[in-house]
Amino acid sequence: MLTDEERIAFHKSIAGVRHLAAKSLAQASDVGRAIEFVANLHRSLDSVALHASKIGPVPDCKLGCSYCCHIRVEATDPEIFGIARRIRQRPEAEVADLIEKLRRHATERNVGGGATRQSCAFLVDARCAIYEVRPATCRKAHSLSVKQCEALSPEIPQNLKLLVEADAMMAGTAEAYRDRKLQAAAHELNAAVLAALNDQSAEARWYNGEDVFCCSGQLAPD
Ligand code: SF4
Repeated sequence: MLTDEERIAFHKSIAGVRHLAAKSLAQASDVGRAIEFVANLHRSLDSVALHASKIGPVPDCKLGCSYCCHIRVEATDPEIFGIARRIRQRPEAEVADLIEKLRRHATERNVGGGATRQSCAFLVDARCAIYEVRPATCRKAHSLSVKQCEALSPEIPQNLKLLVEADAMMAGTAEAYRDRKLQAAAHELNAAVLAALNDQSAEARWYNGEDVFCCSGQLAPD
């Protein structure tokens, strides 16, 4: 819970990020550059998370620990297209395997109705298969108590300052995309990446200002 003063600072921070990001994004002269721009947000989030872990409190997360890869993860339109682009660059067999995992994920989600702790399809051998392009939501995820993660506690203690800083960056960047008339809403990661991989025209339509994903992450009808 933020104090009034902290809330004002939070909104100022969003406005600051939005202003700077909108200026840079205005220079993005094609769809590729508009998609790649989201990497700036990712780099900033990584720096903030690294700094936060240095000054403490130190997160309890360890290599190979993947509790936060078993909850619903969301990503924005440019993040989804960036991930789909990166996947398409991989060998054909690897792409086919990932698409199969994403399809299975969608089927299991429909059967489970979203009630189970479903593993992200990109979690392969306890590692993230898209680590370099993983979305902002994954970059800010952390826990100050792995015991509470193990216990599947609904309340995971986190560094509030880090979360507030990350949320301001994410919100400001999304606003900057909207200023450029580009959608940057949150969609379920796995379903949205599958949809983007299945329809190569989606990113061009997004760049033309279309809202190509519906709320579940599937493509909206033309
Ligand atoms: S994208 Fe990677 S880090 Fe994020 S939930 Fe999936 S496996 Fe985990």
